[in-house]
Amino acid sequence: MEKNDRPKICICLTGKTIAEDLRILERYRSMVDYAELRADCLDPNERFYIRSFPEKAGLPCILTIRRLQDGGKFEDGEGVRLVLFAKALSFPKAEASANYAFVDLECDFKAPVVEEACHTFGTRIVRSLIYRDSLPENLDTAYDRLTLEEDEIPKLTVNPQNSADFIRFLEWSLQRPKRDQILIARGPYGIVSRILAWRLGSMWTYASPLQYGMEMAAPGHFDPQDLVNIYNFDLVDPDTVIYTLIGQHSIAQSLSPYLHNTAFRKMGKNALLVPTPVDSFSDGLKILEMLGGKGAAITVPFKEDVLPFLAIHSTDVKRIGACNTLVWRDSAWAGYNTDADGFERSLLEFLGKQDISGCRATLIGAGGAAKSIALALFRKGAHALVLNRTYSAGRDLARKYDFSYTHLDDRAIDQISEYSNLIVQATSLGMKGESDPINFYEFKGSEAVFDLIYHPSKTVLLKRAEAAGCRTINGYKMLCYQAAGQYKLWMNEPPPDIYAQLEQPESS
Ligand code: NDP
Repeated sequence: MEKNDRPKICICLTGKTIAEDLRILERYRSMVDYAELRADCLDPNERFYIRSFPEKAGLPCILTIRRLQDGGKFEDGEGVRLVLFAKALSFPKAEASANYAFVDLECDFKAPVVEEACHTFGTRIVRSLIYRDSLPENLDTAYDRLTLEEDEIPKLTVNPQNSADFIRFLEWSLQRPKRDQILIARGPYGIVSRILAWRLGSMWTYASPLQYGMEMAAPGHFDPQDLVNIYNFDLVDPDTVIYTLIGQHSIAQSLSPYLHNTAFRKMGKNALLVPTPVDSFSDGLKILEMLGGKGAAITVPFKEDVLPFLAIHSTDVKRIGACNTLVWRDSAWAGYNTDADGFERSLLEFLGKQDISGCRATLIGAGGAAKSIALALFRKGAHALVLNRTYSAGRDLARKYDFSYTHLDDRAIDQISEYSNLIVQATSLGMKGESDPINFYEFKGSEAVFDLIYHPSKTVLLKRAEAAGCRTINGYKMLCYQAAGQYKLWMNEPPPDIYAQLEQPESS
């Protein structure tokens, strides 16, 4: 990608009729550059009309007829496929835009008639090789199978099974000489290759019209609107400074990219936050460094794993024993923690007062987040009771601040009642709709209940508390305020108001 040239998006149209595909395309026209007609998804009698698609679509089109074995829906034999390609690519119109700009042909599909027609009439061949469920041992050998003709566009699709696989693919992609090509890692581990397709040297990234109910054409696709609105496809360029969000699979649902990238856009920062789902913190750090990133947000479950990698530990990191923010400072990684401040600000706003000294609070959990909450409660002069599934971890956290502690089961009922001005839920239980960690406790209705989870926006615990008449808040505001703290550390300037103003999206 050249400077002043934004990354390109190709929308995959998998409708049953041409009319449906065109209707969907119309909704995304302003944000996409190419349209891929997945003719294998069309009803059989619609296939007669595929020749007319580029003229009707009015933007450069790619014709793909994907076989079942490659993840497509085309069930007929290769002879029928050949006829369809020939039909779609023949009788070219004088106006080049009325013809297919590209055709996707698998590397084992040898069809000299189709290839000759393409060369004669100016349709470029995307030569693809798909590893649906794996990553080849030797990526160079796989790639060499694709690069037979100079004017063809090699397209290699792999499916990393873990973050180590993805690192191997990323390392290889970043070292490839520049040429027209498409390199894709599918599935949850590969999302960086979709968001940063341009960094990996791909001509475009594929996207599916998910917001209009069309299926995801391949695992890991984003909706084009998300690529533009969340990942700033209209702004990024080769100089964009990368920040990453390091966490496990669940970070695909994180609102951090939405918050930070909206702030970067608003403040005119040439920066982008990209989620990197990984199996270990060290894998996340490798990806960050490979991308030349300048910082990272760290989330579940790596906030403690990061500590040995830090050259500088902020005071809060030392006190809490967990770090949620990395900043590249003086050729080394400095670690900070903005969770305690983020929690404190959202809590005081929620309670509507600045002074909570003497407040009696129950804190559920003793993980990275709970450690920040404990510090914030201690700083504000609250008295707390700590409950945790692993008793010893709860005990150790409580002792640090001279708090009380007990078991996370019905033995705690009476003590919770004594510490019931405020109840803070800081475990990961509830993110998947599970029952709440204190289902043995009956709310009186006078408790203020703060659940750190924001996805789902109302956990079972919050619903139960609300039904009993309690005031409740989820973790969205805390997320916003801890993110504002991260912005300040990364940009070395006060965060914009946008962090306080952005509402939680309804779909989250
Ligand atoms: P950690 O992995 O560090 O800690 C997880 C905590 O949850 C531990 O206390 C663990 O107990 C407990 N836990 C996990 N599974 C269960 C279970 N089945 N039953 C009971 N307890 C369980 O995660 P974090 O502390 O970083 O995050 C915890 C939650 O807070 C997450 O949901 C996260 O999304 C949210 N969070 C929200 C933030 C916000 O800004 N809104 C910021 C940070 C976190 P044990 O010690 O026994 O393993």
